[in-house]
Amino acid sequence: MVKPARVLIGLASLSVVLFTGHFIYLKNQIDSSEKLKSSNIESISIKEKEKLGLQNTPIRIEFFDKSKHISRGTSYSSLDNSLTNFLVVLDKGQEKRGVLKHELYHVKKHCLKIQYQNPNTISSKLNEFVDEYCANVYSVHGIQLQK
Ligand SMILES: [Zn+2]
Repeated sequence: MVKPARVLIGLASLSVVLFTGHFIYLKNQIDSSEKLKSSNIESISIKEKEKLGLQNTPIRIEFFDKSKHISRGTSYSSLDNSLTNFLVVLDKGQEKRGVLKHELYHVKKHCLKIQYQNPNTISSKLNEFVDEYCANVYSVHGIQLQK
């Protein structure tokens, strides 16, 4: 007879495998999404902002330029120096529609909230992980998991 504890361990292991697989799938989908160029970034940005209801939100979307931006080693979204407008910076090699959608999701869901105040706590790391996962789900599936 199979012990209930073994069934639980089996189900937990299966969940981890499925979740990890989905996480990798999302990243691959984003990495292989449409490439953004200076010729199409404006029109694509307008469409993607509208999908999230951000058409009236001031957001500058720029490709990373070391003379203008702080390097974080990845794309990011934040308030700009005015503290009223948003800035999305697409890092080198990440000039993709999927990355833009991911960052716009952060603008909508997270940028106005002051969070990650103490980035070294476990709950802050967990919140950040959940936020990243939800942004990837939006980017690939168009589903907004967070309110
Ligand atoms: Zn993110």
